[in-house]
Amino acid sequence: MKIAFIGLGNMGAPMAVNLKNAGHEVVGFDTVAKPEGLSMAQSAAEAASGADVVITMLPNGKILRAVADQVIPAMAAGAVLCDCSTVDVDSAKAVAAQAEAAGLGSLDAPVSGGTVGATNGTLTFMVGGGDAAFATVAPLFEIMGQKAVHCGAAGAGQSAKICNNMILGVTMIATCEAFALADKLGLDRQKMFDVVSTSSGYSWSMNAYCPAPGVGPQSPSDNGYKPGFAAELMLKDLRLSQQAAESADADTPMGQMAAKLYEAFVEAEGGLGKDFSAMLPRFEARGRD
Ligand code: NAD
Repeated sequence: MKIAFIGLGNMGAPMAVNLKNAGHEVVGFDTVAKPEGLSMAQSAAEAASGADVVITMLPNGKILRAVADQVIPAMAAGAVLCDCSTVDVDSAKAVAAQAEAAGLGSLDAPVSGGTVGATNGTLTFMVGGGDAAFATVAPLFEIMGQKAVHCGAAGAGQSAKICNNMILGVTMIATCEAFALADKLGLDRQKMFDVVSTSSGYSWSMNAYCPAPGVGPQSPSDNGYKPGFAAELMLKDLRLSQQAAESADADTPMGQMAAKLYEAFVEAEGGLGKDFSAMLPRFEARGRD
């Protein structure tokens, strides 16, 4: 397949390389990044013209909409625009409508698995859009990832992503505050892990990504809380969940609280650039108020 890959940052570059290594013809474009070993076009439109599939991996919905304005008129009829960025549901739906009006297929296909998953080709894709577009891109999801779930119509992929990450933000905070409380009650952290990881308080945050250094499997807490998954990216996803809750009139008090706590952590408490599990030292350092 001829693939245009737009947005070659921490995630996009290794995803594009995996497609190229699997034998596809990949042409990239990025306003800043110039990764080695990939053919690059001079513009997003140039990359997109003649491509069977255009994949975007961009920072946010505003940039996605701007790039869609450039690539959609350049794409061949019947080609598929597949956005893998994490963006707001409204932008995902707007870009899908624009692509459809131009006679193109489109998918919103955000990922989980981080840069390690992008490099190893083990991402999970959560996908919204039509059956035909999904069938076209499915072989590419297989190269870049280990699983692709077709969640429903346009926007369903982004909806799944932000709901998942809202649960993740909330459970990470709950796990960190419980560790900090356990410390103050004189409970050994290893014992706390041994109990909770095999009891009803278990979660991915506790069992797979334990925020306490030296406890549980290797995680960013064992490496000075170097990301991993940065606190500011968690804040971005929590804000997207609250934006979606607002527009869908959904009551999400825990998600709202998690967004407020990560906002304070990133903007006022030194969390910027740290892993999102660094909420544990934040709680450790605090008292009741
Ligand atoms: P990044 O900032 O490393 O990469 C984004 C790239 O887009 C940059 O290279 C930038 O130069 C390029 N770009 C910006 N504007 C552009 C434009 N107009 N035209 C072409 N290129 C442009 O970000 P990332 O970590 O690769 O994340 C990309 C997306 O994936 C984000 O939406 C993020 O939320 C999501 N995501 C990231 C992770 C992660 O662990 N990093 C995990 C899951 C999802």
